[in-house]
Amino acid sequence: MSDSHNRSLQKADLKTFDDLLASSDFEDPKYVTRLVESLLTGAGQAGASDLHFQPTGQGLQLKWRVDGVLQPVGVVPAQVADNVVVRLKVLAKLLTYQTHLPQEGRIAQEDFPLDIRISTFPTVFGEKVVARFLPTGAVSYDRVGDLGLPAETVEAILAALSQTSGILLIVGPAGSGKTTTAYACLREILSSSPEQRNIASMEDPVEVILDQVAQSEVAESVGFDLTSGLRSLVRQDPDVIFVGEIRDPETASIALQAALTGQLVITTFHAPDASAAMSRLADMGVPAYVLRSATNCVLGQQLVRRLCDCAKLCPETDSHQSNLGLRVETWRLPQGCPECRQSGYRGRQLVAELLDLKVSEVASQISSEIDAAQLRSAAAAHGMKTLYHQAVELVQTGKTSPAEVVRVFGITDRQDELKIRSKK
Ligand SMILES: [Zn+2]
Repeated sequence: MSDSHNRSLQKADLKTFDDLLASSDFEDPKYVTRLVESLLTGAGQAGASDLHFQPTGQGLQLKWRVDGVLQPVGVVPAQVADNVVVRLKVLAKLLTYQTHLPQEGRIAQEDFPLDIRISTFPTVFGEKVVARFLPTGAVSYDRVGDLGLPAETVEAILAALSQTSGILLIVGPAGSGKTTTAYACLREILSSSPEQRNIASMEDPVEVILDQVAQSEVAESVGFDLTSGLRSLVRQDPDVIFVGEIRDPETASIALQAALTGQLVITTFHAPDASAAMSRLADMGVPAYVLRSATNCVLGQQLVRRLCDCAKLCPETDSHQSNLGLRVETWRLPQGCPECRQSGYRGRQLVAELLDLKVSEVASQISSEIDAAQLRSAAAAHGMKTLYHQAVELVQTGKTSPAEVVRVFGITDRQDELKIRSKK
C-alpha cells in the first residue's frame, strides 16, 4: 500500500532525519522543534503508518512501522527526550502537565502537511507516544482495478457492487488494507452511477473524505455510537450503506437486515480470512439463513511485503531450508540496500480470496456452527484460490520471499490446504 510513499521518498529528508538524531546541538533553542518536524516528515516520507517514541533509561527509542513491520530507526538522546514528548503534545493540543493518564489528539493540518494522530500512554520510564499517519488525499488506489488484484477477482467485486441489495463483506486481520478496498468500492459506485444512488456511511473514524457520500463519524461521547447511528441511518432512504467495521452482534444484525431489505451494504470485519469470518458471524448469533441470503460476496484479504529489486534468486538446487518447505521451484531471498533501508522489501502486494456462497457445496457449509477449516476446504475444492495459495504463487514468481509468507500466515496451520492442492 505504501508504494506511492516509497516512490516519493526523498533521500535528502531522511538524511536530515539521521543527521539531526546524530547531532547533539542541544543548546540550539530550535533543536527540538526541528528534530520533531524532521522525524514526522521523515516517517511520513518513508511510508510509515506509525512512529513510536518509547521511553527507556537511555532516551526515546524510535521505531516505525513500514509495510506492516516495526523497525528500529534511532534513539532520541535522553537530554532532549522530555522536550520531544512535550513538543508532540503541544502539536496535538494535549495537556502537557498531564503525564499520568493516556491522551489522544490530532495535529492540525495547518501546522503540518500530514494527517497525524498522537496518542500518549504512561509507562514506568515516562510517557510513550505513538504518532499514527492517516492516509491523506494523495492515495493512488482510486478504484478496484488499481488494487493490484487479478482480473477475475476485480470482475467478481464489480459484479457484487452492481447489485442493489446484499452485503459485500471485506475481511482480514488488522492492517490488511480492508478500508482501502472499501473506499475503492465506494469510488467505483460513485463513478458508475453518481447521482442515482444515495450513499451514506457510518465510520469510526472517517479516514478518507469522499464527495457525494454522506459520511458520518461515530461520536460515543454524545451517545452517537455505531449501533444507534446505523439504526437511524437505514431510515434515511439510502441505496448504499458503508459501515466502517462490524464489531458486535447488534451492528452485524442491523447491517445484514439492511442488506436483506433492499440496500447494498459494504462493510469490513476483523477475521483472518473469509471462512473464519463466516464462522465468527455465526458464533455472534447471525442466523445461517441470513448469512446465506444476505451475503453477495466475502472478500478475504491480506498484505504481503514485496521484495526490493536487490533480492537474489535461489535455484532449486539451493538448500531446501531457504524456501522453508514451501512447494516452489524457484524463489528469491531478501538482501538489503539503501533503497529499502536494508529491510529487503519495498511496498506491499494485496492478496485476496473470494468465498462464493452461490456454489451450493459451499453454501451447505453455512450453519449455526460453521467449521472454518471445513468451509475453507469446501470452497478451495470448488475453485476458491485461498490467500495462502496465492501468497505461495507470489514466492514462485519472485515477488515475495518464503520468510514473508511464513511471517504473514504461519505455516503449520495451513497444512490442510497443502494436502488439498497436492490431491489435484
Ligand atoms: Zn533493497
